[in-house]
Amino acid sequence: MLHSWPHDNFLAFSRQHEWGGLTAQSTTLNNGVTVIQHDSGVIEFQPAENIAKLDLVLSCAVHGDETAPIEICDELISALMREELVPQSRVLFLIANPAAINVGRRFVEENMNRLFSGGHSQGAGLVNRERKRAKALEGFVTDFFAATPSSHTRMHYDLHTAIRDSKHEKFAVYPYQNGKPYSAEQLRLLAALDVPVVLLHEGPTTTFSYFSVNSCQAHGFTVELGKVRPFGENDMSRFAKTKSQLIALITQGANIAAAPELSGVQVYQVQRSINRTQDDFQLNFPDDVANFTPFKQGDLLARDGSEPIYAEQDGEAIIFPNAKVAIGQRALLTVMPVALQHLNIV
Ligand SMILES: [Zn+2]
Repeated sequence: MLHSWPHDNFLAFSRQHEWGGLTAQSTTLNNGVTVIQHDSGVIEFQPAENIAKLDLVLSCAVHGDETAPIEICDELISALMREELVPQSRVLFLIANPAAINVGRRFVEENMNRLFSGGHSQGAGLVNRERKRAKALEGFVTDFFAATPSSHTRMHYDLHTAIRDSKHEKFAVYPYQNGKPYSAEQLRLLAALDVPVVLLHEGPTTTFSYFSVNSCQAHGFTVELGKVRPFGENDMSRFAKTKSQLIALITQGANIAAAPELSGVQVYQVQRSINRTQDDFQLNFPDDVANFTPFKQGDLLARDGSEPIYAEQDGEAIIFPNAKVAIGQRALLTVMPVALQHLNIV
């Protein structure tokens, strides 16, 4: 199937062909940049020369209703197509789930961020289109990084916005590193992205960012940029710093010298995962309590049947609470700030 090229509005084009499966096409812009439209929602910009030695994946719409990252990526893609931005890095944009954007929901049939690292083929297998799309996206990311020389830096920011308020408006999840150290440079680049708060994830998972870490040896992060709002209702000034850092990565590469010092980064570790084991499960705080809200030792956090669950220490903070999960599933994570000197950072 052939489609006219170039598309001056790649987001609109992707939404028109919401499940992808298109034939790849490429073109060269007047400034020498090669543009490859791999599929609906999948577009790569290759500079004539990758001076910055950075290969960068920016993904959005893994959750279709998280609009701000979609708007940011749309603006960056359009500016690159119009040659207003001239890349010195190789960049792959992924609009992960255009069909979910079209219905204004997190997903159509299944939460895509539970489907990576092979999750798409487990259990019932490739039974729905989100599973097929997740598998296809893995392929695009794998091929993109496979073409990276070993001297280049590989980065993937999977951009999200959160459902609930947060004491820290912007924060990143640093996926499990399989025992390898954390990167001081990457933490500083997150701070430059206006994301100075990082939650360390404690084990393998089926998120997109962990896929890039585990399967592609990339620096991958899930980046939460604030609270979900409808299209057009995002106050884009709140994302100005984030956007300008993304532009800097694309047009100049990872300029560590310009990034804030590591001391400006606040890191949290997971303290415990509290599972719902009983029919009668209640959280002892309002539904809309902000992520990273701290509690005092002895505060009642939840009640699982007749079992009270208390905060174990001062400052234990809650994150991603959901009392309505299925029995046996995680209803709540608690986290604690951790001093940088206690971490394996190089
Ligand atoms: Zn999300």
